[in-house]
Amino acid sequence: MQIVYQCSNCQRLNYRDVSATIRRLDCTECDWNRTFAESDIDGEAPQRCLACGNNDLWRQKDFPQGLGLLMVAAGAILSTIAWWQMEVVWAIGILLFFAAIDLVLYVAMPDVLVCYRCQSRHRKAKIADDHPLFDLELNERYRQEDIRLAEAKKHSAGE
Ligand SMILES: [Zn+2]
Ligand SMILES: [Zn+2]
Repeated sequence: MQIVYQCSNCQRLNYRDVSATIRRLDCTECDWNRTFAESDIDGEAPQRCLACGNNDLWRQKDFPQGLGLLMVAAGAILSTIAWWQMEVVWAIGILLFFAAIDLVLYVAMPDVLVCYRCQSRHRKAKIADDHPLFDLELNERYRQEDIRLAEAKKHSAGE
């Protein structure tokens, strides 16, 4: 399994391959590190977030958002050029072509588990088909918690 996580100390984005035997995450920039428990991982299935220990993870397609947008934009531009050239069949063909690629990519892309609290991505993990998808309400709870923590930190710093 591969974990993509942001260092909680210096915010650097790190990539690490982990397993039941390699249970240590560290940072390439600073001396932050975390060793998770053996029970946190079951084969290739994470039982909770391996970067912060949080229990809630959502399942989504491991699809780079930028790539999807780029494809939509490329399809629209090419299709518009074809319309402009009065090539109607081409214009429609191009749109269908890009829609088909999008669909194929979406189906072919593996799932990834994302942590509500630290947004770490657990890639190449074994994921149950019925693992919950993104829940806006739950996410809102984590967002509020984040705000409260930031406020508490500000107060304790004496500001
Ligand atoms: Zn760091
Ligand atoms: Zn986490």
